[in-house]
Amino acid sequence: MNPSKLIIITAPSGSGKTSIVRYLLQKYPGQLSFSVSATTRKPRENETEGRDYYFLSEAVFGRKIQNDEFIEWEMVYQGIYYGTLNTELERIWKMNKTPVLDIDVKGALHIQRHFSGASCSVFVQPPSVEELKRRLESRGTETPESLNARLNKAAYELSFKDHFNYVIINKHLELACIEADKIVSGFLQAGVTRLRK
Ligand code: 5GP
Repeated sequence: MNPSKLIIITAPSGSGKTSIVRYLLQKYPGQLSFSVSATTRKPRENETEGRDYYFLSEAVFGRKIQNDEFIEWEMVYQGIYYGTLNTELERIWKMNKTPVLDIDVKGALHIQRHFSGASCSVFVQPPSVEELKRRLESRGTETPESLNARLNKAAYELSFKDHFNYVIINKHLELACIEADKIVSGFLQAGVTRLRK
């Protein structure tokens, strides 16, 4: 396996990318591993340190920025930082696996540039902004302010979809998973040669 290969799944928040990522990780447990990001966000119920995120204080996150420990980092929402640690990708490559990154669009563009030729990027598109709103509301994790922030950001992020190798429209989750599976199995088998764009 090429140790610098990676898979990027990106999308506006609420597009269903996390469900697709979970599906892929279950389907290829021996080949894929979730890249655990660092964040300054507080853990939600059911979230576990080191499994969902490395939950850091702003001070610690800031120190890691200073020390160049991130391959990319973003203030994804007002005052909330997220980033991919170099050590996280190395940890996964050492296991001879391919990291799967579930990251926002700006971070994804950055990583894609950094690993150009070795990454497979998939943009998961929600069927519509209305549907996105409905999904975020039914998830019940948002305040009216954070919901609005996420919707505004989603409209902006949608404009970048054509920068990625593949776009999957997530109208029916099962079909979107099948599509993602085809893309990933092709990438795992044939590597970068079969990538689009
Ligand atoms: P949530 O707070 O809902 O877990 O995630 C919010 C957003 O941050 C999602 O779009 C998620 O993909 C993105 N995100 C998670 N980890 C990272 C990261 O390491 N870098 C960047 N740029 N975005 C991330």
